[in-house]
Amino acid sequence: MDIAPLKWMIIEKALRWYSKVLDMEDQRYPKRCLTRLRALAERAPSSRNNWYSQVSAICSEIKCETFLSENDKKIRVKLMNEALNSLAIQLRSQDVKSAQQTHFNNHFRELSVNNCTNYLTSNLPLYQVRLVAKLRMIGEKRAGLNVSGVKADFESSKPCSVCNMPGAKDTFSHFFRSCLVFKKDRKRWLGQEAITDSEVSTWLDANQSAKACKLVGFIQTAVRQRAIITNEGFLR
Ligand SMILES: [Zn+2]
Repeated sequence: MDIAPLKWMIIEKALRWYSKVLDMEDQRYPKRCLTRLRALAERAPSSRNNWYSQVSAICSEIKCETFLSENDKKIRVKLMNEALNSLAIQLRSQDVKSAQQTHFNNHFRELSVNNCTNYLTSNLPLYQVRLVAKLRMIGEKRAGLNVSGVKADFESSKPCSVCNMPGAKDTFSHFFRSCLVFKKDRKRWLGQEAITDSEVSTWLDANQSAKACKLVGFIQTAVRQRAIITNEGFLR
């Protein structure tokens, strides 16, 4: 959805506030505090509890040191905006890199992390968007899904709790792709009795609304059935 990272938002607020205080008249209390903090920072530059030192450290990090002492408001704002724009690009590329290197979820690095995916801006109901987002970020070793109040927990160290397939682990990947118990529902919603490993990313990308709806439909049906089967087994 192209929301700015939290780090960017905090830095932006700090710089804008600094710029605003700098433009205040000298007798205003915030300006007097800033002048004092600045004098103290010059005496002890490494002081961690000095707000001016903290802003100064941020400016060094984003390479806009001249912003701190620039008295011309227009030039100061220009310097700040340029630094913030390049920081946004840098943070975005860090996020993309982290997502592509993650081992938390085998499919996350295959997803369209470079661009905003369509499901976020489509006309899908919010609960469907939230479910697709949850599925895209689901863990491989342990995972918990709550679909309309029905819970499904996956634990990869255990065998699948609903089928007797040899070697079938209790993971979301097995549940979604190949668990035999859900093959009819898979056929009905996704058009196939089983999903190959490479097809998982295409489904989780949910590029078209119709595809996202089918994905959500299958997950809702299968999670509900899984809960019924698991509870019946427990009561026996
Ligand atoms: Zn199974």
